[in-house]
Amino acid sequence: MFRENFVKDVENSRYPKEDNNKKSANEILYITPIFKQMIWGGNRLANEWKYDIPYENAGECWAVSAHPNGDCVVKEGSYAGKSLSQLWKEKPEIFGNTVSDKFPLLIKIIDANADLSIQVHPDDEYAKKNENGSFGKTECWYILDAPADAALIIGHNARDKKELEEMIHDGKWDQLLREVPVKKGDFIQIDPGTVHAIKGGIEILETQQNSDITYRVYDYDRLEEGKPRELHIDKSMDVITVPAKPVEGYIIHTAQNETNKMQLLISCKYYRVWKLDIDKSISFTQKYPFLIMSITEGKGILNGRPVKKGDHFILPNNFGNVNIQGNIEIIASTIGK
Ligand code: ZN
Repeated sequence: MFRENFVKDVENSRYPKEDNNKKSANEILYITPIFKQMIWGGNRLANEWKYDIPYENAGECWAVSAHPNGDCVVKEGSYAGKSLSQLWKEKPEIFGNTVSDKFPLLIKIIDANADLSIQVHPDDEYAKKNENGSFGKTECWYILDAPADAALIIGHNARDKKELEEMIHDGKWDQLLREVPVKKGDFIQIDPGTVHAIKGGIEILETQQNSDITYRVYDYDRLEEGKPRELHIDKSMDVITVPAKPVEGYIIHTAQNETNKMQLLISCKYYRVWKLDIDKSISFTQKYPFLIMSITEGKGILNGRPVKKGDHFILPNNFGNVNIQGNIEIIASTIGK
């Protein structure tokens, strides 16, 4: 009896109610990904990432998402089972009280076995007006894997709007679309208005605004269940930037030998993205409103807990000191400045 009371007293003094709240507010949020079957999807998410997926061709892993088409839940801890959109509303302090009615980012892994359709996204202003108040979509890609002669479609060759309309109308896709060679480790920023497409064999980690608004420009005249997929030519022509930016404006070749530090890949209005290549250890203070991390290679220890390829988590506001050891590659992100 005495001992029980003693234990109780110790527990009460060690974890008074307020501290308990503090403790849960400081927990790492480990996220359960959501998978999407796609006609163009490959099998790397099951075979190489070891995700338990009950079907073939899982083209997309929505790793950290609060979008209504895929709202991820927390895997463990005080918030186990809660969705990210729910936490964003109920516990804004976890995310540094960031002002936005929706969780602002979406992290995806895309495994393309075949070429994806040629697409373009609107900006916030156009999407708000024409897509029921949705966000526009700015996105960026870190190339996780690519075959030897890999290329992406980024931008186009039309000199003005008239030429763009003519080339689209006449189906001069070879002339119009700009194919750009890429390799594993490249990083690409896709601003709204940029014509783009992922080609077969490429695997990327995408950091994007929390939006699902895509206009399909061209689908290689393919059929899905006997019918061509819907195209959005008028909206595409409204939003495509003419002329396109020079290709150097899009691609960042990540540096070698930048180990054991946070290598900033991009800082734009919507997000900041870093690459961490760790072969020993890294220590830093989590000073961002929140920090999303996706482990894309290897394994290690984060503040005493084992983490491995395929784990996705959020370090909350005021998390404090972060220590990661091991042989590990991480893509991290937070909101823009
Ligand atoms: Zn896109």
